[in-house]
Amino acid sequence: MWFANAAKFSGTIVATMIAIDDAQAMIRAESRPNPSQAVTMNEALGCILAQSVVSDVDSPPHDKALMDGYAVRASDIAQDVELEIIEEVVAGEVPTRPVESGTATRIMTGAPLPQGADAVVMVERTEMVAEDRVRFLLESIDSGTAVMRRGASVRRNQVVLQPGCELRSIEVGAMAEVGCAAVDVIRTPEIALVQTGDELVEIGNPLQPGQIRNSNGPMLSAMVQQVGGRAVDLGIARDDEAMLTAKIRQGLKSDLLLLSGGVSAGVRDLVPAVLVAAGVRQVFHKVNMRPGKPLWFGVADRADQGRCLVFGLPGNPVSGLACFWVFVAPAILIASGRTGQMTIETRPLAESHRLGGARPTYWPAVQEGEDGVRALPWQGSADLCSLASADSLIFFPEGGREYLAGEAVAVLPLR
Ligand code: AMP
Ligand code: MG
Repeated sequence: MWFANAAKFSGTIVATMIAIDDAQAMIRAESRPNPSQAVTMNEALGCILAQSVVSDVDSPPHDKALMDGYAVRASDIAQDVELEIIEEVVAGEVPTRPVESGTATRIMTGAPLPQGADAVVMVERTEMVAEDRVRFLLESIDSGTAVMRRGASVRRNQVVLQPGCELRSIEVGAMAEVGCAAVDVIRTPEIALVQTGDELVEIGNPLQPGQIRNSNGPMLSAMVQQVGGRAVDLGIARDDEAMLTAKIRQGLKSDLLLLSGGVSAGVRDLVPAVLVAAGVRQVFHKVNMRPGKPLWFGVADRADQGRCLVFGLPGNPVSGLACFWVFVAPAILIASGRTGQMTIETRPLAESHRLGGARPTYWPAVQEGEDGVRALPWQGSADLCSLASADSLIFFPEGGREYLAGEAVAVLPLR
């Protein structure tokens, strides 16, 4: 019956909206880095290091040739001088004879330098005159040429990587070089996702009248992965207390829980009440911004394994997207051991833009190099497809007005 919910559907209780900055500060205050966990170097990419990495070797472990050619005494080299070849050494072998004046060892890149030698002449500057004689086609060579000294790159017991550093491919390679097969890193945050709504249908199913596809699930899962989190999508929950409660209980086992929909003033917006009933402490509800006003944020303290941060995102896809980049991404980044500071850039507007409405606004935009940033045509929080070419959100502060071309605006890049 249409009037069954009339008592609940009242506009008289107006929750006060908080400012964007205050909401961000509250989220930051509740955010903690995850505990550390040992991973192999093959699992470490993108993680934040929770220990120092110390070298167990001098690297290189021997004076080594940096070119294919001849290991010589630099003082022997003069134009057209000829030396006796006493040995050939390739990488992986060890020289057996010292280089004395008048002699040279044929040497390949990476091989250990023989005793007595102090430079390598590249093969291109030489000419064979007999099987065991080589002529040199250069006037002189400096001692140390084409030689890398033992430990020149890193010394045994030297700290190569500091706690807090992000493990990129370079760091993974450096770990392998210094003998570090496993490391402690900040555990990758696991983010549970639940999408609420009686109208939602998973992709691939036919749409009945009144139904829409669940675009938030795949989009949130993708955004979580973009910031280095691990998404666990628990799927659709109907606007039904029992089903919501079950999904929320499951989601509270993760480091963060992101719900979409059900946080506004509609009669089926059950999420805040069900979260509180499930023991989640509300930190704030409603932020003075557009899109994204209905955002709900709370914390579940768990005796055994720290806390779960809970975000009730508005159901409209662009509201969810804006809330994700402004509020959720920093929390995920902090959980993964990063600072969580998002880069805000200042750019000139490429074209004038008339902003209606008074609330602080994040407007979809595209950056156009020298021209600056262009506000895209956009129909509001339900219009996701107009963002297909967007790479940023322009932030317009409180108070609508005409913004002129060339005027500097704050821009939040979308990753
Ligand atoms: P709600 O916040 O639940 O009132 O939803 C606000 C609007 O967002 C409604 O038009 C919903 O149909 C739409 N919506 C809610 N959840 C999703 C979703 N998962 N994917 C796409 N649209 C959604
Ligand atoms: Mg809903």
